[in-house]
Amino acid sequence: MNLYFKNRIALFNTLVAAVTMLVVFAAVYIVVYITTYRHLDSNILEEKEELFSQISLVGDSLVFSMNAEWEELEHSRAEVDPIFIQMVDAKGTVIFHSRNLENDQLQYADSLTSNLFFNVVFNDKKIRQGQFPIKTENGKIIGQLDIGISMADSILILTNLRNAFFAAFPLMLLFFYVVTSLLASRSIAPVKKLIAYAEKMHYNNIDPRLPLPVHHDEIYQLTATINSLLERIETGRNREKQITADISHELRTPLTSIKGTLEVLVRKTREPQQYEEKVLQVIQEVDSINHIINQLLYLARLDSGNISIVKKPVKLYDMMMTIKNRWRLQMENKAMVMQLDIPENTVIQTDFGLLEMMLGNLVSNAVKYGHKQGQLVCHWQADTRILSLTDNGPGIPQEHLPYIFDRFYRADIPGSSAVQSTGLGLYIVKMLATIQGIQIEVSSQENKGTQFKLHFNE
Ligand code: ADP
Repeated sequence: MNLYFKNRIALFNTLVAAVTMLVVFAAVYIVVYITTYRHLDSNILEEKEELFSQISLVGDSLVFSMNAEWEELEHSRAEVDPIFIQMVDAKGTVIFHSRNLENDQLQYADSLTSNLFFNVVFNDKKIRQGQFPIKTENGKIIGQLDIGISMADSILILTNLRNAFFAAFPLMLLFFYVVTSLLASRSIAPVKKLIAYAEKMHYNNIDPRLPLPVHHDEIYQLTATINSLLERIETGRNREKQITADISHELRTPLTSIKGTLEVLVRKTREPQQYEEKVLQVIQEVDSINHIINQLLYLARLDSGNISIVKKPVKLYDMMMTIKNRWRLQMENKAMVMQLDIPENTVIQTDFGLLEMMLGNLVSNAVKYGHKQGQLVCHWQADTRILSLTDNGPGIPQEHLPYIFDRFYRADIPGSSAVQSTGLGLYIVKMLATIQGIQIEVSSQENKGTQFKLHFNE
């Protein structure tokens, strides 16, 4: 059977209530039962005290000094609350019984040494009976007194109590089930609301967030958690869209250029030199596409947070030498000089790959945008732990400076149109610096040059 959540709660609560009610009733019943019997026994004892005060002993024989009063006593209570009295001698012969016993006899146990209470059925009626030994001064038992009291009232109380419980029990359970079911239904109403909202959502429409409940309870937490999950999904989705748009946008220009070049080339037969020229142009565009793809792939890795940092001691001078060698050809073409003002024993604790990527991008920019016969100075300031890269290139106009670390931002520097550029280099540098805890600063003056400062923490 597929029970609804609210019904499961109601059923469970009702079961707990049923067990609790049974336990409470049993406890109440036992207390009333014991109290009732105690009350009966104390009545019998009272009666016994009264009767014993009227019994006198002559040697080993019983003498009833106030027989007349015994009769009276019995008469006065016979109708409403009959009390049966019987006295038996040591041989078991009944020597006295109250008149209401008529020809009957109360049950009694032989060889009685101490007081005894028990229930018996007498003339189809239940009575509580007390049996007391009558002893001489030296402790010899010479008879016994039996007193019986009707249990009708007590039985009535206990029966009424039981009946009341059996009548109330199912009604209370039913009431409890209905009430808890209603309460459970009210409690899960916000969950139903969430389900209804969530059902309206699909991958392309997760903009509306789930409404937060008024009370700051678990449902509130659940809703807030789902909302933050939706937030993350949306961010991821937007990033995905952005990357797709970026890729198509960035690739379109070189691809259009390649297509145009090739179309011009096949239009008519050309001189081998012209072919060579156009093919070289196409190769340049393909290089550019390659560069864009590499940058974009790295960007995607950064965006997905799929970059792990392994910090190790890195020899800064060696790393800069490697980068310098990588750019040697381009620098020679522009007759540029790269000066390393870094002590060879400088060691910094960092992630080799990430730092190399950062410094490589900065050197690449200095070379790309640098003038012919320009220079780039890399200087390590040991006391402040600052590595600066200073070039004497065209510089970046002040109005562009605040944005150069933005994604896809390119400053329009005159004469740099031929430079392979995506606007991603410095964005990647900034991201990598943040990941590694390196502070980066830029200062630049138009027509004078640009300086990037990397501040490494201890
Ligand atoms: P990209 O070089 O691919 O265009 P970057 O993010 O590396 O992208 O640089 C952003 C812009 O900052 C560049 O377009 C360029 O105009 C400017 N820039 C960066 N470095 C230098 C530099 N050393 N000298 C002059 N301009 C620079």
